[in-house]
Amino acid sequence: MLLLTLIVIKSILIYGNPMNEISPSLSTILFRGGFALPDLKVYYEACNLIWIRDWIQLKNKKILNLEGFDLCLGWHAYLWKERVPKEKNFGNNFFRSALIKTWDKYRKRMYNKTPRWFSPLEASQRRLLGWEEWPCYEKIIKKSGKNYELKSLQEIKTIYKNMTWLQYYQFKTDKDLGFMEKDNLWDKILFSERKTITKIYKVLLEWNTETELIKNSMSKWARCVGRPILLEEWESCWNRKLKYTYSYNLKENWMKMLYRWHFTPKKLGKINKTANTKCWKCGEEEGSFYHMWWNCQRAKEYWKKIHESAQLIVGVKFQKLPEIYLLNIFKLPPGSNEEKILTFLSTAARIVYARYWKQDKIPTTEEWLVKILEIKNMDKLTFLIAKQQGRPRKETDWRQLEKYLKSKKIN
Ligand SMILES: [Zn+2]
Repeated sequence: MLLLTLIVIKSILIYGNPMNEISPSLSTILFRGGFALPDLKVYYEACNLIWIRDWIQLKNKKILNLEGFDLCLGWHAYLWKERVPKEKNFGNNFFRSALIKTWDKYRKRMYNKTPRWFSPLEASQRRLLGWEEWPCYEKIIKKSGKNYELKSLQEIKTIYKNMTWLQYYQFKTDKDLGFMEKDNLWDKILFSERKTITKIYKVLLEWNTETELIKNSMSKWARCVGRPILLEEWESCWNRKLKYTYSYNLKENWMKMLYRWHFTPKKLGKINKTANTKCWKCGEEEGSFYHMWWNCQRAKEYWKKIHESAQLIVGVKFQKLPEIYLLNIFKLPPGSNEEKILTFLSTAARIVYARYWKQDKIPTTEEWLVKILEIKNMDKLTFLIAKQQGRPRKETDWRQLEKYLKSKKIN
């Protein structure tokens, strides 16, 4: 709280009262903080970022010298260089350490490529050169086809006369990551003169609400499954498994499950008080999301059949758990063929089940197998496309499935 007050006071002293700026135009979104107040934490972060803006723009020389008199590297080194050891010095300063924390929290989301305001020379040689104006990428790159490339030394020298060949050479090491497009959202915001705090606050609030939404669904799932689901389990689900396929159909299903998208009798009852909130399948119990997907007697029948076949197709015995079939969370060797196949099997099972969402019927095993064959073809296609694009991937081994189909005399 103390820190928050200090930062806010400091902002007020230098930029004028930001509340003047924030109050009129924000009235429509303020309610998200509850009780018609701004979300103070987000507001504090917005104040931090408005401070960081000085480090980015490198214009306010007085403040920069005052705040950075004891630093060895340039401001931009701390803002953008990977693996710059944050010297003790840097964090020793009360304000600096608070500001950089907020910056580090958001910067990857703001800039996924090198920002155009970044000045490699300032980052490495602020102490030595002391230029009036630091050459930033905005001024020294130009578009060539789809990508950006460095202007020639000759061209750059027309703007920065003192540039030496050695300094020019340093730029070349920076372009691997690529550069942000012109007029990207954050450049626009951070270099705008008016209502900057309001603008930053709006975007941060949006991001934070988004995160809340995910956290909410995650904790709801944990309650259903009856155990906390670790962050790594979610991450493996989202980072690795999303790459298994190019198919939006499958990814859409994963998203819908995570966000608990499917409408339920219980939800309908909340909207329309007279609606029947009983489960559409058994007609007996209340139709909550988890009941409809897992706890219902009819659903259990379905998952039992799927589970028996799935173990045969994957070739591994495992427990029948809701997180396996509803969320693709399970412990098979990461990246293994088994993991991939089970992900496909459970996704197919959900897609087929959702077709009967509002009916009292459940799908047959055959319908499920047809969907799997569809996914199998799609998976082969994904493999071919990836190969053609020069990003080859491991081919899925579907032999177990073929064996299973033969034993069932289906294929
Ligand atoms: Zn039911």
